Amino acid sequence: MSAAGSAERAGPPLWLLAELTYRCPLHCVFCSNPLDYARHDTEMNTAQWLDVLSQARAMGAVQLGLSGGEPLLRDDLEEIVAHAHRLGFYINLITSGVGLTEARARALKEAGLDHIQLSFQDSTRELNDFLSSTRTFELKSKVAAIIKKLGYPMVLNCVMHRYNLPHVGRIIAMAESMGAEFLELANTQYYGWAWLNRDALMPTREDLADAEAIVDHHRARLAGRMKILWVSPDYQDAKPKACMNGWGAVFMLVAPDGAALPCHSARMLPGLDIPFVQRQPLREIWYDSSTFNRYRGSAWMSDTCRSCDEHERDFGGCRCQAYLLTGSAEATDPVCPKSPDRPLVDRLIAKAGASHAPSEHPLKFVPNAARHGALVYRTDGNSRELCATSGMESSCSASTV
Ligand code: SF4
Ligand code: SF4
Repeated sequence: MSAAGSAERAGPPLWLLAELTYRCPLHCVFCSNPLDYARHDTEMNTAQWLDVLSQARAMGAVQLGLSGGEPLLRDDLEEIVAHAHRLGFYINLITSGVGLTEARARALKEAGLDHIQLSFQDSTRELNDFLSSTRTFELKSKVAAIIKKLGYPMVLNCVMHRYNLPHVGRIIAMAESMGAEFLELANTQYYGWAWLNRDALMPTREDLADAEAIVDHHRARLAGRMKILWVSPDYQDAKPKACMNGWGAVFMLVAPDGAALPCHSARMLPGLDIPFVQRQPLREIWYDSSTFNRYRGSAWMSDTCRSCDEHERDFGGCRCQAYLLTGSAEATDPVCPKSPDRPLVDRLIAKAGASHAPSEHPLKFVPNAARHGALVYRTDGNSRELCATSGMESSCSASTV
């Protein structure tokens, strides 16, 4: 497939995710940032970000996500929001809440911020603080009240896994009591730090079925008041997702150092010649770069996918998942029942069922901890350690299961 041929078929990048910084006060064990984020620690300056936004908008981008790390750590966030607002973006701030005072939330609203997505780790202080290795539960609760007071749409997000799935009813009650209009219960997908902590985080099929039944009950009860989105876990769902709506189809991520990527995890795929927004116009990156063209169309697909009726719907599933599980980014996503590698995933699920329930391990809170038992926290020290060792490749990329 030629780059030019792909370019003719590609529409504009409708959705831009600007990861403004990898810095974050929290240390979540499921963080989707790259394991080696500490080696990409340069950040673009304000002028560079404003230029990226202008270029993206000129290409047709309409939705802007501001995330990180923790985007509130950028002193120029208000300036970035104001520029995006002038350009006509719909702007969503994705935040842990740390740093969102009432004055700042007000200033961001005046600058044109449309929407804030606040993350919680759990409905209990104990687990929220344990999973992030920070005392942030009370603070997040205060931030939720500020968001509500200032009239932002209230969107709460909680990443789900075997530690907090038994609390799903309480998480919904917490969101309801905070007046959330929307609650996203996103089951952990295994990339980044969640990949490293996969064995400890993966729930059993029973955990998931019980939680889903509770979600269904509350969804019916809260209809018209609060929407609940349940994001199924890929492994147990056994249905390949249309990852990013297709590689290079509608989504572009720009990392803190200016790397332009087709998804959150693509940076770890081998052989990609990652484009940088400081060196190349965004239009050229989107339409002509080898990275954005690599998995457009169907020429790259395995025979299994190319001959399957579903390939224009799910695009063969997720490239990063295929690579992490099989070592080949071109493979059929192993979560698919038609994949010859599906037994790898079945073995992982069986292993989750056979291991101890987390309640058997006391959740001892330690601020800024590096590890707890088998769990590795997302810390600068751990990231540097992973970068420094030659084991980096086996820790953050393909592994045998
Ligand atoms: S998942 Fe946690 S550690 Fe990662 S960026 Fe979000 S708040 Fe920070
Ligand atoms: S074989 Fe490929 S295209 Fe068909 S359902 Fe599985 S992942 Fe999708």
